[in-house]
Amino acid sequence: MIVVMKLDASSQEVDAVKSRLENLGFKIHPIQGVKRLVLGAVGDRKVANSLNLESFPGVEKVMLIMKPYKMVSREAKEENTIVKVGNVEIGGSKVVSMCGPCAVENEEQMIQIARAVKEAGGHILRGGAFKPRTSPYAFQGLEEEGLKMLARAREETGLPVVTEVINTQDVELVAEYADMLQIGSRNMQNYSLLKAVGMTGKPVLLKRGLSATMEEWLMSAEYILAEKNYNVVLCERGIRTFETYTRNTLDISAVPLIKSLSHLPVVVDPSHATGNWKLVAPLAKASVAAGADGLLIEAHPNPPEALCDGEQSLSPRNLQRLLADLKPFLKAVGRG
Ligand code: PEP
Ligand code: MN
Repeated sequence: MIVVMKLDASSQEVDAVKSRLENLGFKIHPIQGVKRLVLGAVGDRKVANSLNLESFPGVEKVMLIMKPYKMVSREAKEENTIVKVGNVEIGGSKVVSMCGPCAVENEEQMIQIARAVKEAGGHILRGGAFKPRTSPYAFQGLEEEGLKMLARAREETGLPVVTEVINTQDVELVAEYADMLQIGSRNMQNYSLLKAVGMTGKPVLLKRGLSATMEEWLMSAEYILAEKNYNVVLCERGIRTFETYTRNTLDISAVPLIKSLSHLPVVVDPSHATGNWKLVAPLAKASVAAGADGLLIEAHPNPPEALCDGEQSLSPRNLQRLLADLKPFLKAVGRG
């Protein structure tokens, strides 16, 4: 339920509404808009129905949210959410590029690619230190050593860092080094992990599950917001279909759909969506045209030698070209 407070509601009036709801077991999420305060109240619908909150002083109106996801919905918050990662804003006027290798391999590779990302005009550095691999025999990541390399690359370039966390025990450790925590597709419905990253308060990049519906994806985001962490960015990375020429199928409709259903920023990962570096540039352009707030792009100093996902990674030169070629598209959607 959403309780819209009057423009001139006093803090005592706000507190009275809050404590009435809290006493009835509701969890309160205050949302301060540009003009007015709205209280998101999540709790028992039957109790909500029987409350006469509109008669409380300072209350303008009360609306029930009929969707299963509450705090992530546009009903809860009309204005777009802007998530700050270091000094970079996702969901604002600029389209943000998050680029880097699939996996952190060694310090030289990370410094090289970080410099290339910076030079190409990228905003955030990505790289996995904990890798969720389909095969237990594939490279699993450098773990804490990899996190240290990411931190060194950040020092070198000033780029904030996003990296994946794959289990709850490592959340604290990864949060020490990263500016943004990535939840990968395979973990989109790992609810204890979602709660744990929610509790850190750090920005979270929540990738869509391999075959998750919009609603399942938004419900996963709701887990993080339910912990009062509102810094969530959704990432469309392709879903599984019958097609085999691409690794996944990019669901471009997810971008405008999510934008209408939710106030959270949405970015697109054309690298995992296609599995083919040659398809990354056209789909990055399509994503910008569809209204994406950012792109997650795999790039490696030497893709043929990459330990992971080389076939979908851009070389520094191709990354530079892509980010330059995107400019007219950004301008066309008013985000140049
Ligand atoms: C990744 O971004 O490193 C990754 C593993 O992607 P996904 O979770 O989308 O497969
Ligand atoms: Mn990858």
